[in-house]
Amino acid sequence: MPEAPGPRVDAHVHPTRFSRLGPAFAERNRIDFSPAGLLREMDSHGIGAGVFLGPRLAPSPEDGLREVADVYRSSGGRLLPTGTVDPTRGPEEVERVLRLLSASPVPLRGVKLYPGYRPFDVADPRLEPVYAWAERARCPVFVHQGDTSDPDGLLRYVRPVLLDEVAVRWRGVRFVLCHFGNPWMEEAAAVVYKNPNVWVDTSGLLNPFAERYPDQLRRMRARLGHAILACGGVERVLYGSDWPISSLADALSLVTGLPFSEPDREAILGGNARRLLGLPPPPAPAETV
Ligand SMILES: [Zn+2]
Repeated sequence: MPEAPGPRVDAHVHPTRFSRLGPAFAERNRIDFSPAGLLREMDSHGIGAGVFLGPRLAPSPEDGLREVADVYRSSGGRLLPTGTVDPTRGPEEVERVLRLLSASPVPLRGVKLYPGYRPFDVADPRLEPVYAWAERARCPVFVHQGDTSDPDGLLRYVRPVLLDEVAVRWRGVRFVLCHFGNPWMEEAAAVVYKNPNVWVDTSGLLNPFAERYPDQLRRMRARLGHAILACGGVERVLYGSDWPISSLADALSLVTGLPFSEPDREAILGGNARRLLGLPPPPAPAETV
């Protein structure tokens, strides 16, 4: 009998077939790089839902939207769809993609931006129509921040402090600062601390190709703990894995090993994301007679 979906939420997964580096990460992590493989991992860790971030390497916006919608349906609604927009394609294309997102046949839970992978930053005026759309659609904006997995990415576009002025100007939009802005985690925490509409996720903080992986895990957990304290609380911190870059087991162990109270850890692992995304509370565990 299949296990019931659990209370936890992974705020950052990439079960996309449009991936260049995904297969190598999956092999290294010994995971099945398919939506079905991800769902099996989620089941074994009490994760009921995951946010599938709009694939940036899809051949066209239509292909990307079709993939997130197909995966949403085939996962029984557990892998939540989001869109993506590239402002460097010009204003007409931005408007066209926003119309596509508005007409999505499945309910989108956010829009993902990939500054650094493309030459723009979050304060780029070409993004103003995207923020206006996100405010109207009440969709959180997930923003890649910090180091890129592709060495051709450009770091000048991914400093977390750039999100500060955008968050001040667009108070009606909720932003998720992805990867805790690593390695600028304290800078990210400063942006979260002062802006009630900025959230942060713990995804992509581990490099499975690094030597002495257990040491890396311990050191990163210590850095993460300090950075979360600098946010002023756990209320806007979201667990995310960046699957397949991390296995769910590794990404979870960063959070479950934090020296916080059990309710605080569980808030990071699911409650906060449910609040951000408007997901229903998880079903209560079945009572045994
Ligand atoms: Zn990611």
